[in-house]
Amino acid sequence: MKLPAPHPNELIYSSVARAGVYYGLVSPKQLLDEIFADRKVIATLDLPSHLQSIVLLLNETGKYDLETLVYKHTLFPLYAPFVPEHLRQRAIKRMSGKADGAVHLMLGVVASRIKSVRTFRFCPICMERQLRTHGEYHWQRDWFLPELPVCPKHDCLIETSIYFDEHRHQFLPLNSAYFSMQTSSKFVANDLSLAKAASELLDQPAQQSPTFEQWTHFYHEIATECGCARGKQVDHEKVLSLVCSRFGSLYLENKGLLNQSQSNSFWLRSIFRKHRKSFSFLEHLIVWQTLVPTLSVLDIFIKVRRYAPETVINESQSSVGNAISISDECRAYRQKWEELVLRHGVKQARHQATGGALYAWLYRHDRDWLLAFNEQQKRPFETVNKRVDWHLRDRQLVKDLIRIHLLSEAHPVQQRMSASWLLNQLPHKNSVAKKLHKLPLTQKFLARYTESVTEYQLRRISQFIVESREKHMEIKRWSLFRSVGLSDQRITPDTMKILDSLTYL
Ligand SMILES: [Zn+2]
Repeated sequence: MKLPAPHPNELIYSSVARAGVYYGLVSPKQLLDEIFADRKVIATLDLPSHLQSIVLLLNETGKYDLETLVYKHTLFPLYAPFVPEHLRQRAIKRMSGKADGAVHLMLGVVASRIKSVRTFRFCPICMERQLRTHGEYHWQRDWFLPELPVCPKHDCLIETSIYFDEHRHQFLPLNSAYFSMQTSSKFVANDLSLAKAASELLDQPAQQSPTFEQWTHFYHEIATECGCARGKQVDHEKVLSLVCSRFGSLYLENKGLLNQSQSNSFWLRSIFRKHRKSFSFLEHLIVWQTLVPTLSVLDIFIKVRRYAPETVINESQSSVGNAISISDECRAYRQKWEELVLRHGVKQARHQATGGALYAWLYRHDRDWLLAFNEQQKRPFETVNKRVDWHLRDRQLVKDLIRIHLLSEAHPVQQRMSASWLLNQLPHKNSVAKKLHKLPLTQKFLARYTESVTEYQLRRISQFIVESREKHMEIKRWSLFRSVGLSDQRITPDTMKILDSLTYL
């Protein structure tokens, strides 16, 4: 069984539902058996688990590892940047197997004031586009932004009254029947601007979560920049009135975001104090759109990550001014380096012309910061997970092998392309040979493209014939044998059969 590859922005839930349609599996239990080999899997839209089964079913595409599925086909990126790094990593791990609700707990979805969407929704304009582009419909993840019932692209969204948790083990596909459910949707301008920002969040690549200290520092700085803070003191009333005038009290009240606004633990106060727990994406977005409306989500992450752990001030230090002071020149270099690294990663950034120069300058003038910052930006799979990601390596090896194979077609090699010859062309050939049992794609490639002795002999023979013809030389069996290095002993019966069928020899 294979799974239809997910469309861009399609939820995993939806791909599974489409598989059911493709294979004509009417019974939900049968679909669960086929996909997960487990009938207890709960059909989850936002943060699904058992993704390792999906990775395996998509193995042949060579495009979907666990991280890709999690970041491109679930709502994970809405939550990940706001929880500490260790939780982000644990959540990804749990999503690969059985989660038992742990993922929702870790990411704070369960305890949050912001509740997940529970009913199906769709955007008819998106659906028309889907049909034109892909010839079929699918559930798009940006239709399921919690508390934001609007399509970020088309200002409209139809909410159905079908609860997906009433179909716990069933994956329902999107089809044209939904078109008839034209209930009125209450679209609000605020929802749209927040939904657009949320979809920017969804587009962020997999990256390490900022620390609570970094968020603390960021919020303190933007409060200061907006004149809502002096020294350590944040004027919470002023912040609240700015947020209310940007979004309107009624809107915030409807979202439950003004509950206990006079309490000391009111979220809008806490977010400007030392962070001790996570805030929801919606709370973050609301403050961003009020205090730093011109910054994109990417800009904001760049700003937050700018506080490398070493330079983040303690709460005991009184104000931002106490942070290690740096020159404007240095700040400019840092900023350029950060942008480059966030876009390309440390390694690639260093290999670019401007990147190399920036790196050299910072290394000379600001080494501690540079090393701390780079360390933090390393991709989780490179650093924290010291174990080899065999699936990733497997894919890379097959790519290398395909390249070698194509090259050998353009420039035929003298030797037989045996499995060991192919492996010898790879970097780390010894470890590959030893670990073949962990590399199913590499194994498959070798099984399929290794040259048999007969294939090798025939390749050499046809090469000889072509060359002789080009030189208008008469082809004699003895000259062929000699030049190709064949003998009566070495020639295989199959090669012999084909040679005998060539009448001119
Ligand atoms: Zn739409």
